[in-house]
Amino acid sequence: MNLILMGLPGAGKGTQAEKIVEKYDIPHISTGDMFRSAIKEGTQLGQEAKSYMDQGDLVPDEVTIGIVKERLSKPDCSKGFLLDGFPRTVAQADALENLLDELNTKLDYVLHVQVPEEKLVDRLTGRRICPECGATYHVEFNPPKVEGVCDHDGATLIQREDDQPETVKNRLSVNMEQAKPLLDFYSQKGYLVEVNGDQDINLVFEQIDEKIGGLAK
Ligand code: AMP
Repeated sequence: MNLILMGLPGAGKGTQAEKIVEKYDIPHISTGDMFRSAIKEGTQLGQEAKSYMDQGDLVPDEVTIGIVKERLSKPDCSKGFLLDGFPRTVAQADALENLLDELNTKLDYVLHVQVPEEKLVDRLTGRRICPECGATYHVEFNPPKVEGVCDHDGATLIQREDDQPETVKNRLSVNMEQAKPLLDFYSQKGYLVEVNGDQDINLVFEQIDEKIGGLAK
């Protein structure tokens, strides 16, 4: 099962991704997470990505396409994958098509999780993540069992630099501008599946599962 998960920041992609990869047993490939771990490890890639990410801007296509190409070529992706946060531009989508051709495979679905814009700012500024395992929480809508502590590994939760209110506004407008041509691209190709993300987390997943479940191996 080869999937792309789309949605504006705060639409719940991370939360749904966790559920999808568990049920369908495929690797979760998040370009944002890959950049964040490169920053943590202090690699050259991390240093380059950080200057863009801190501003809420996109990392240049050639850098991003390069890391995805490397990741999708690994053996664990032969059983499928869930791309999260990629592609973000039509150039990235074109590059992905070529890459999948080279790998002799193709996309199954592009899931688009939709949430009204006005709700996204609240969701983003209240988001907290685990710096160890990447699990996501929300102070109000999806709190951990113990405040400020990850349910999975007990690490202290943090707020992402780019979830600060000033950066959130720029991220949303950059993402909205970028998403439209991509949604058109995948809709024309018949891959697009719309999902209502403005409901309970488990109901969103049920909807996804129902729509893609027929293809489960
Ligand atoms: P995310 O965790 O997906 O919200 O990504 C966080 C940040 O990483 C973005 O605001 C971008 O700066 C960068 N990033 C992640 N994925 C991409 C991508 N596909 N293309 C360009 N930049 C990206």
